[in-house]
Amino acid sequence: MSDRYFMDRPIVDSLAVLDGAEAHHLIHVMRARPGTEIVLFDGSGAEFPARVERLGRAEVELSVLGRDEIDRELPRAVTLAVALPKGDRQRWLVEKATELGVARLVPLRTTRSVAQPVQQAIGRLRRAAIEASKQCGRNRLLEIAEPQAWPDFLADTAAEPCRLLAHPAEDAAKSHPLRAAHSTDPVLLAVGPEGGFTDEEVALGTVAGWQPVDLGPRILRTETAAILLAAIFGAS
Ligand code: SAM
Repeated sequence: MSDRYFMDRPIVDSLAVLDGAEAHHLIHVMRARPGTEIVLFDGSGAEFPARVERLGRAEVELSVLGRDEIDRELPRAVTLAVALPKGDRQRWLVEKATELGVARLVPLRTTRSVAQPVQQAIGRLRRAAIEASKQCGRNRLLEIAEPQAWPDFLADTAAEPCRLLAHPAEDAAKSHPLRAAHSTDPVLLAVGPEGGFTDEEVALGTVAGWQPVDLGPRILRTETAAILLAAIFGAS
């Protein structure tokens, strides 16, 4: 899958021009020549075999040789709403969520959030999703949504049928996420920050209809909990 390149514009013609970081990689790292064949994708769900026609210093002209509809998405839409961890662990989370087929990642603003998702960081995460898609063969990008405060996210998702809230507190009403794994409904998964959701945030979630779920007796880091949940739904 390493000869895959992302076009940030829809591919609609028999000619395509690659520029920016993707062109730089093709010209200066892969040392492409006229005639080199690669695969383009534009996030629309298809991939496009293409041939290099002309190389400039910063752009590459290609003939688009076809359009192949290749669906590598999950049978149900998985949304991961997560209070982002710090630094490199954000990138790791996005990379693994992309590989596991998560459709949408919503950075949550919660009371104890350690990383406030600023625009520059969101841009870096969108780039990480593209890189992971190139590697794993996804033809649709993981959407990195605009950050949302937890109460706003609850209000926006009130009509969704399957919503699971990971929270490690002792609670007889908690259930295991595998219970919901075999439905085909879209699923929304919420994971708290390193300091956890506050009791008030958990109460807001349960009143709004979210099902608290247990991930076992150990306390997992935010990104581990998020990827464990995504893997349960990504593999079912
Ligand atoms: N002391 C915090 C607490 O008690 O909530 C720990 C937070 S944990 C590091 C970060 C997030 O991962 C939690 O808010 C929760 O969403 C999820 N999580 C971690 N371990 C979990 C478990 N065993 N069961 C359910 N959720 C878990």
